[in-house]
Parts: sequence; C-alpha cells; structure tokens
Amino acid sequence: MSGDYKQKLKQRLPITRLLEFYGARHVSSDLYHCHPNLGHASEDKHPSLIANDARGVAKCLGNCALNQGSSDIFEVIKRAEKCNFNDALKRAGEIANLPEFGQESARPSQRPFKKKKGLDNKDLNRVPKVYALEERHQAWLEQRFSAEWRWLADYFNIKAWHYHIAVPIDRSEVNWVFIPLDKQKDQTFYRGPSRSVQPFPNWPWEHGQTKHVIKCEGEKDVLRLYAEFHKRNLLNDWAAVTNTNGAQSLRPETGIFKNFEPRRVKSVLISHDNDAAGRQANKTARQMAKDYFDQGTKIKVLQFASSIKGYDISDFLNEGKTFLPKDQLELFNSRQEETGLAQGIQMSLSSRNKSWNS
Ligand SMILES: [Zn+2]
Repeated sequence: MSGDYKQKLKQRLPITRLLEFYGARHVSSDLYHCHPNLGHASEDKHPSLIANDARGVAKCLGNCALNQGSSDIFEVIKRAEKCNFNDALKRAGEIANLPEFGQESARPSQRPFKKKKGLDNKDLNRVPKVYALEERHQAWLEQRFSAEWRWLADYFNIKAWHYHIAVPIDRSEVNWVFIPLDKQKDQTFYRGPSRSVQPFPNWPWEHGQTKHVIKCEGEKDVLRLYAEFHKRNLLNDWAAVTNTNGAQSLRPETGIFKNFEPRRVKSVLISHDNDAAGRQANKTARQMAKDYFDQGTKIKVLQFASSIKGYDISDFLNEGKTFLPKDQLELFNSRQEETGLAQGIQMSLSSRNKSWNS
C-alpha cells in the first residue's frame, strides 16, 4: 500500500472531521464530547476526547476504546468499525471521497440508468464517490441556471454521481445532497453520514456579513437564488438557506438560521412552495425567525397567489420577477453609489402573483 495514498487520505480527512462524522461534539479548541460510535462506554457527560488536526491524532480520557495511546484516523476507524487496517483504509477513502487506491482514475459507469438496489434516502451512512460533471449534468445545470451555471458549479463545488448532481452541504465534502437529474427515475435526493436535518448550505464562517436572508424550500431553489445574487451583484449582503430532507422535515430544533448573526440581519424572507407542506413550513420558519433574530429584523413571508400547485421561488425568478420588497428596493437603490449595485433590480413590484404578509 502506497504511503502517499495514506498521506493523501490524512490530508483529505482531518481527524476532527472524522470524529464528528462518528458523532463527537466539539466543545472548545481541541476538546470534544466522545460518542459511543467511537467505543466510548456511555454518554460522555464531561468532554473527555482530545483531538488535534495538526498532529492528526486523538485520545480519549474516559472509559473508551480510544484511551490507549494516541490514535490516527485509521486507528479511529478500526475501533469505530471494529475492522482491520485494510478495511479502515478503504473506509477512510469512502468518507473522504477519494477513489480507492489503484483506482484513482475510476469513472462512473456509462451503462443505462438503473436504480441501485438497497440504496434509498434512509441509507445515510454510505457516501458515494463523486465525479467531475459530465455533459448530461452540465446540460441539466445550464437549463436551470443558464449562464450562471459555471459560476455556481465552482462556488458550490458541484460534482456528479451517476444520474445525480452532488452538492456538498458544508465545506467538508463529507455531507452531500444528491439531486436527481430525473425525479421520475430516481427519488434519491439526499445521502450523507448525518441523519439530522441540517441547513443547506451549512457555511458558518461565510455568513457573518449577511444582511438579508431568504429561507426557501429546496436545495435547487437555493442554487437558483445564488445564481440571482451573483447576477445582480448581491452576494455580499444576501444569502439563501434551506433545510435538507424537504419542507416537511423542518423543525424548530433544526437551527436553520444558526449560521447568521441575529443582530446583523435586517430582513428575513420566507418562501416555501405553493402547497400544503409549503404553507405549513412558512409558518414554522416564520416562528423560528422570530425566535432567533433581533426585534429589529423584518420577517416576511412571500406567499404566491399563483394557482399553480408547487409554484416556487425558482418559478417566480424564472418569470423575471423580483423578491425584493419595496423598502429593500429603496435600500438597494440608495446604496447603489456606495456599493456599485446593479440596476437590474428595478423590476415591477406590482405583480399579481405575489403578496406580502408581515
Ligand atoms: Zn471516548
């Protein structure tokens, strides 16, 4: 086995990421709550797991499989999965999304589409390898996001997996959303090691400056909104977020807004699909925003008067409409000189297809 490959894996899979993958919870600096997945005897009430990415090792001080000397990523996997070194190496490759040793140039098969047996939305522990975008994925992206698709692919680090688009949920490249090119053929939408519903995108350190937040229903809507922000030069002030696993999975404890600074955000726009699940999610998200943000934050629900069931913010944007309410339009217009914001936001606000609820 090549030492280079081992090194590469260690670089791609920092030990703290791996520990979090197995359920360890970060407390502060190098300190974590250990988890039974890692061989800890029971719930770790006082954090006893110490991990350091620079040295690439971890040690637990509790009654735990990790309390014998320092463990590197392969040791951790061996103990967590009770496997031998070769299996641990293979597993590390899966978790880090690296092709197996000796198959670095492996390509997805070109055989006709067939839904894989035994893989469904509940199969959250296997992270498939992802690949560069091929023609069919590029065409799908271009159809939805027109010329912005190249920028989007780069910004979100979009990859491909057979007949799916794969988008990392966070920057770790461990948690991915898989979006089927054809929903009729495959309903598989999400697969990642974390079963919990989480914000998408989950970028804690990139949302500190955000002044306006849009909570929409799905991952595709988030991408569509970012294409719009980019096109209109609004990226510095605006962000879009959704929760993984669909509108019906949204719960107060999802912490959908946790990556935003409550005091910095001036407005929150909530816009789920025009159907029963979407309307319920609008209510839930509105309450969550009220609980999380400061009193000065304006919270609005964008409800579509369209009679089309499932009509969503992507449809809305694709019809050339804007999500900017009047006061925010003024806000942007007044700041045009200072920020060089684009003219493109002077669209009609009197559209029949929407109404504002405060
Ligand atoms: Zn432990």
